Amino acid sequence: MALDALKDVVRKIARSSSIDKHLVDEVVKDIQRALIRADVNVKQVKEITDAIKKRALSDEPLKSLNPREHIIKIVYEELLKGVGEGLEIPLEKARIMLVGLQGSGKTTTTAKLAKYFKDRGMKTAVIAADTWRPAAYDQLKQLAESIGVGFYGEKGEKDAVKIVKKGLEELKDYDMIIIDTAGRHALEDELIKEMVEIEKVAKPDYKFLVLDAAIGQLASKQAQAFHDAIGIDGIIITKFDGTAKGGGALSAARQIQIPIAFIGSGERVDDLDRFDPAGFISRLLG
Ligand code: GDP
Repeated sequence: MALDALKDVVRKIARSSSIDKHLVDEVVKDIQRALIRADVNVKQVKEITDAIKKRALSDEPLKSLNPREHIIKIVYEELLKGVGEGLEIPLEKARIMLVGLQGSGKTTTTAKLAKYFKDRGMKTAVIAADTWRPAAYDQLKQLAESIGVGFYGEKGEKDAVKIVKKGLEELKDYDMIIIDTAGRHALEDELIKEMVEIEKVAKPDYKFLVLDAAIGQLASKQAQAFHDAIGIDGIIITKFDGTAKGGGALSAARQIQIPIAFIGSGERVDDLDRFDPAGFISRLLG
């Protein structure tokens, strides 16, 4: 665990050599403020900070940790509870389906993931199944060509399920297939129905929910709706290069108890990284 990266974060602790209730109260108040500013769900903020407070005073510190490290460890663990420290994706034949709200960055992320797996030696292709946003087809086709990965789409075709079915046949020689789907609103029946049908046909190994880092308090509810419909395996946070701290996305992950897999931090196809828990938390609290 990268305790070092978090040392600056909880600054008050740094000056103290012992833990007492007064210090813990102060630290917890700071964390509470930071989390609310970062758009973490208000109910979750209370759960997280209550747990930190309780554990900071009652947990027996590990012999190897000084009091400061003891609290930092607890803060780290409580913030990532249910979310974990990332998602390991073995480089084996698989299908990935991306879902999310419109504009969250699904199409861009489809291309980024394709590049990620191609760079790791996998024969990769993408399927353009966002038939609701007409520009998505050309956007993904162009990106796929520029990266040098396979592409399947049918311009003008409205039936996304049909496209996916056909695409999987056409691309059966590929190891990794990434499917871009339509994004609108998680709570719209029509989108949910289409998503469920694509899921049945595609039988994806991974279903990733793409969330804009700037998504606010609504994130948990949206994530729950997607999760109830198809079962989400991982979260990808986009636009982390902006000012948003991603607290809404963290809340979404906690709500459905699913790991954050990747972080997108720019418009270029290279701007994708595996989730770095310590870096993420430093930014959340900083
Ligand atoms: P979709 O509707 O979910 O398919 O969204 P798009 O992939 O078309 O992305 C919407 C906009 O967000 C585009 O202008 C993208 O270039 C931009 N975008 C996507 N990911 C990122 C990111 O990580 N950082 C930044 N700055 N922009 C992004």
